[in-house]
Amino acid sequence: MVCIFCKQNSENAIGVEHIIPESLGNKEHILPKGVECDRCNNYFATKIERPMLELPYFISARNRMAVENKKRRVPVDWGMLLSPRGSKIHLRHENYKNPSIDLLDEQTYQWLIQQKTFSMIVPANSMPPDDNSQISKFLGKVAPVTLAKIGLEIEEGLTEVTYNSGLPPLRDYVRYGKGTKFWPHHMRQLYIEDKYFSAENISNTFQVLHEYQLFQTTQNAWHLVLVIFGIEFCLNLGEPTTADYRMWLEMNNQDSPLYGHFNNNGRADPAE
Ligand SMILES: [Zn+2]
Repeated sequence: MVCIFCKQNSENAIGVEHIIPESLGNKEHILPKGVECDRCNNYFATKIERPMLELPYFISARNRMAVENKKRRVPVDWGMLLSPRGSKIHLRHENYKNPSIDLLDEQTYQWLIQQKTFSMIVPANSMPPDDNSQISKFLGKVAPVTLAKIGLEIEEGLTEVTYNSGLPPLRDYVRYGKGTKFWPHHMRQLYIEDKYFSAENISNTFQVLHEYQLFQTTQNAWHLVLVIFGIEFCLNLGEPTTADYRMWLEMNNQDSPLYGHFNNNGRADPAE
C-alpha cells in the first residue's frame, strides 16, 4: 500500500485519517490506515487543520455550536464586559443550550454584583475570512481523500486515484506548497449555522455540522462541495479557478449541488 499524497510505502501507518477533523464534529467519516502515510497525516494535522481551526471564525463557530474536540473540550471564545475599565471575559458553551461567562478578576466581579443590568460585546465572526489559504489547502486535502474513499470501493480504485487521477497540481499545492501560490475556492452561506432539520425516518429534529460531495460541473470539471456550519465551500480539483462553479450556479438558480439530483456519474443534473 502506498500513500495517496507522497506515494511512499504506507503499510505500517498507524494514524487514522478523519476526512473532516474531529474538532468540526466528525466522528464517523474515517479512512482505513495506510491510505495516507503517518508523515502526510501529521503534516495535514499540524500545518493545515490546526491553523485553520484556530482562525477566529472557527473558534467562535465551534464555541457557539458547542462542538467538542478530540479531548472533549469546546473552545473558549472571548468578549468584553462594558464595565468602567472594559474587562475581558471568557465565553463558554460547554453544552449547546447553556452558555456561560468567566470573569477573569475580582475587581470585575465586585463591580458586576452591584449592577442591575450590564452590557457586553461578543465577536460576531459569522463568516470565515475570504480567500484564506488555510481553508483552500484544507479543501484541497479533503478532495483527494474523498476520492480515495470512493476508490476503496472499486477494484484497483485506490491505485487509480494515486497515479491517474489528474490531481498532481492540487497535491503539490496542498502537501508541498509548490506550484500555484493560491488555489481559490468559492464560499457562501447556505443556511444559518444552527438550523434544525427534520427527516422522515428520524423523530427529532437534528443539526447538520457538515456534509460533503464530489460532483462534476457541466464542463466535466470535478469539484468538492463541502458545507460546515451552514457555510458552503467549493473547490475545483483540476484547476485553480472558481469560474466553472460560478457558471454552474448561474445555470442552476444558485442551488447547492449537495441538494441536487445526481445521475450515475455523480454529475449533478441542471435544475429543471
Ligand atoms: Zn504520504
